[in-house]
Amino acid sequence: MIRTNPKHGVRADDRNAVTSHVFLALGSNLNDPVAQIRQAIQALASSINAIECAPLYQSKPLGPQDQPDFVNTVISGYTHLNPDALLTALQGIERQQQRVKTQHWGPRTIDIDILFYDDLRLDTPQLTIPHQELFNRSFVTIPLFDLIPDGIMPTGDQLDRNRYDSSTLVRIDT
Ligand code: AMP
Repeated sequence: MIRTNPKHGVRADDRNAVTSHVFLALGSNLNDPVAQIRQAIQALASSINAIECAPLYQSKPLGPQDQPDFVNTVISGYTHLNPDALLTALQGIERQQQRVKTQHWGPRTIDIDILFYDDLRLDTPQLTIPHQELFNRSFVTIPLFDLIPDGIMPTGDQLDRNRYDSSTLVRIDT
């Protein structure tokens, strides 16, 4: 996708001054999940500036229960990458951390999803933004509230805190 700057008529990815505000959800339940999430955030810093990280939360897995607990968090930051390039960067980090995915909702070393990209709404075979499925999951929305306490999302919509049960999550102090 190419975003055009209305003032200058140049491609966003050619101009350092144009950045987009993104929110990403991270999760891991293999090979020291806290270290996996830290490593992923470090890798993200090469393409995302001014990263803010919510606390990390531990929770029981969805789906198959015969797997370790998950650790999840949400980060926000600013990037010059367009959505497709951002997805490619995230998949590169997942590969680097030797993500092993054997079953749906099964264990993984690292999973990184794009929650928001500015106020963009996108629905293509590769990308759905905002990532609707994640709004049903407390392990995403609770750390998201840590970053946007008023619950007003980049799309302008209001996230209702009462919908989410934080009692299933244990905050990890790192
Ligand atoms: P999963 O590994 O189960 O999170 O699914 C990864 C696939 O979901 C990727 O290959 C993407 O093409 C697709 N996808 C759709 N929307 C998103 C999104 N907002 N963020 C990350 N991946 C997405």
